[in-house]
Amino acid sequence: MKTIGLIGGLSWESSAIYYKILNQRANAILGGVHSCKSLMISVDFGEIAKLQHEENWDKLAEIMIDSAQKLEKGGADFIVLCTNTMHKLSEIIENSINIPFLHIADATAEVIKETEIRKVGLLGTKFTMEQGFISDRLINKHGIQTIIPNEKQRNDIHNIIYNELVKGIINDDSRKIYFEIMEDLKQRGAEGIILGCTEIMLLVNKNNTNDVIFDTTEIHALKAIQYANV
Ligand code: GLU
Repeated sequence: MKTIGLIGGLSWESSAIYYKILNQRANAILGGVHSCKSLMISVDFGEIAKLQHEENWDKLAEIMIDSAQKLEKGGADFIVLCTNTMHKLSEIIENSINIPFLHIADATAEVIKETEIRKVGLLGTKFTMEQGFISDRLINKHGIQTIIPNEKQRNDIHNIIYNELVKGIINDDSRKIYFEIMEDLKQRGAEGIILGCTEIMLLVNKNNTNDVIFDTTEIHALKAIQYANV
């Protein structure tokens, strides 16, 4: 079994879920009291969120590179970056290490391509929805088209992530807003919805919707277990 290197704390609410899924899955495969081998470096999301909103991607790249290199030195066999948003820097991170980097959009695309679906709504932070580092990769590398919420919807989704979900606050009114936006995306042609922020599954998940959802947290974590040869 390979050792998974996790860059977490983005936010810790979702890192905790990654950790749980990884170990539950490893145990389901191996039985007994087995769990998965992993290292996590967990950053201070307060610093990260501030830098993101200042669009200080150079400083963010420094922090991400430092984290990935520490994981490599510590013995990680590959890197899992536990957030969609910071995948904006995936190429820079990948080029700074000598071990593989498991891209969240590729893992998600693989699961989408197991279905007939080729047009999906994308929910995430404004960075993720507006800057194309996920949607361009999905269309260019995988032939999957994304539909993005309108400006007001993007603001609502983003604010709920940063003001509530990263703090573990789960609010019924916010869930209603997400459902309304998902409905609108379906009206606009989305055949499924990517939960393209690793905290969204706290609010919207298989237990409260029948919509076809692609939960990047679960997909990415399960891909890591597969890649680790558990
Ligand atoms: N976890 C979120 C994501 O998947 C947002 C936090 C962050 O900005 O990294 O995009």
